[in-house]
Amino acid sequence: MSLIDSPATELLQLLKSAEVTAVEVTQAYLDQIARYDGRVKSFLSVGSERALEQAATIDQRRGRGEPLGELAGLPVAVKDVLCTDGWVTSCGSKMLADFVPPYDATVIARLKAADAILIGKTNMDEFAMGGSTENSAFFPTTNPWDVSCTPGGSSGGAAACVAASMAPLSIGSDTGGSIRQPAGFCGVTGLKPTYGRVSRYGLIAFASSLDQVGPLASTAEDAALLLRTIAGHDPLDSTSAPVDQPDYLANIDQPLDGLRLGLVREHFGPGLDDEVGAAVGQAIKEFESRGARVQEISLPHSKYAIATYYVIAPCEASSNLARYDGVHYGYRTDEAAMLADLAEERKQLAAAGDEAGLANLDSPLMRLYRLSRSEGFGPEVKRRIMLGAYALSAGYKDAYYVKALKVRRLIRNDYDAAFRDVDLIVGPTTPTVAFGLGEMVDDPLAMYLQDLYTVSANLAGIAGISVPCGMTSTGLPVGLQLQAPPFQEERLLRAAHMFQQATDWHTKRPTLAAETP
Ligand code: GLN
Repeated sequence: MSLIDSPATELLQLLKSAEVTAVEVTQAYLDQIARYDGRVKSFLSVGSERALEQAATIDQRRGRGEPLGELAGLPVAVKDVLCTDGWVTSCGSKMLADFVPPYDATVIARLKAADAILIGKTNMDEFAMGGSTENSAFFPTTNPWDVSCTPGGSSGGAAACVAASMAPLSIGSDTGGSIRQPAGFCGVTGLKPTYGRVSRYGLIAFASSLDQVGPLASTAEDAALLLRTIAGHDPLDSTSAPVDQPDYLANIDQPLDGLRLGLVREHFGPGLDDEVGAAVGQAIKEFESRGARVQEISLPHSKYAIATYYVIAPCEASSNLARYDGVHYGYRTDEAAMLADLAEERKQLAAAGDEAGLANLDSPLMRLYRLSRSEGFGPEVKRRIMLGAYALSAGYKDAYYVKALKVRRLIRNDYDAAFRDVDLIVGPTTPTVAFGLGEMVDDPLAMYLQDLYTVSANLAGIAGISVPCGMTSTGLPVGLQLQAPPFQEERLLRAAHMFQQATDWHTKRPTLAAETP
């Protein structure tokens, strides 16, 4: 197996035993990026120089026998939603295209403390709103299995770069499925931790009560390795949970005797693609053959999950994104042109004696806000801001936002009841496999339905993982989703690992064509 196709846990052993150097590993991934990322476009920026410098330093320190961090010399790609000190963090938006954070997100600080090598920032849907990475203000990412398809989203770049062996590990964020859905579409393993497990400090907020940061990797073991580094209580995030940190990796081989799996009746209904259903069915049989007991369960309120999510997430987004006004934060319109236009408009209105028009004319500040926001945000972000502002407005708040919060509680109650009978919940990650680029851009509702099986975990705050479990006749990966009660990531990873010990879907790699010069 070549270096870049080795799991991160194996690379780490090779690095520790000095069979390879951090520079060799980093260079191998940079070469792969140079060769193929012209087509996949998973990165918004690649930090080649600083990565190689950091790798050289680690090699020297290892040579001197100094103690090193637990990921020493392993490249990690990071979704461009996490603040990196001195390195542009655009969040996939023109609004933040020039934003250079003066600090590191806690997750980044932890990666640095573990001596991981930050190799690049990955592409994403603008402000993490979307399911295809086509809402990036810069360019769409493609699916390495078929470049005419999307990699999913919003962590499309983070999933695609792992699938295309451009990084052994990456970090994504998941508000309604943005780690699990792209992991499913790209044939990699992606974990959304329990709300509160991983610090959100320095994560650019989309919907603060739903957002979680998590690992993408080629195996459950690798995801466990990365989660161990990034998880843990953080006083800088008031929603970070002060709970014990198990060693996810040390216990991953422990068998799960008598595992009780719950199969959600509502996740096998209309809308589920036949081939996806068949692959998931096969995966469930695999669990049964390893001693798991499968029983059907019901999450009766899951039929309201999409509607609930698409009220709550936009409400929170409209509030979070109010700060980007061109004054406090973010892109600012061309002020000189704006003032000149305003003066011209005033002159014409005055010449026409239009008193009402003059009275209605924007103040310069209002015009600055309006233009900065309308030029800085893309169409999906604007749609969400409008949806959220409407649902929160006086007279509608109780009917939409408050009602959605009540349904959210019922969705969590469904899970609490289900987890009294089963240890994990199993089903498809998404209703279909990767769809074609451009196929859904004009149909936001169809795009929102992609999140049918994933949003409930965010609404309930529980943990979920997607692992590859099959391939369609057209050669696209199918994702299996496992969900666990709050803070049971260890159980989730052990089950995913058990599945990967018995199957080889996670070892499959796409055949990539380099860009023709
Ligand atoms: N696709 C969902 C949305 O557009 C989820 C996004 C996410 O998890 N960040 O909101």
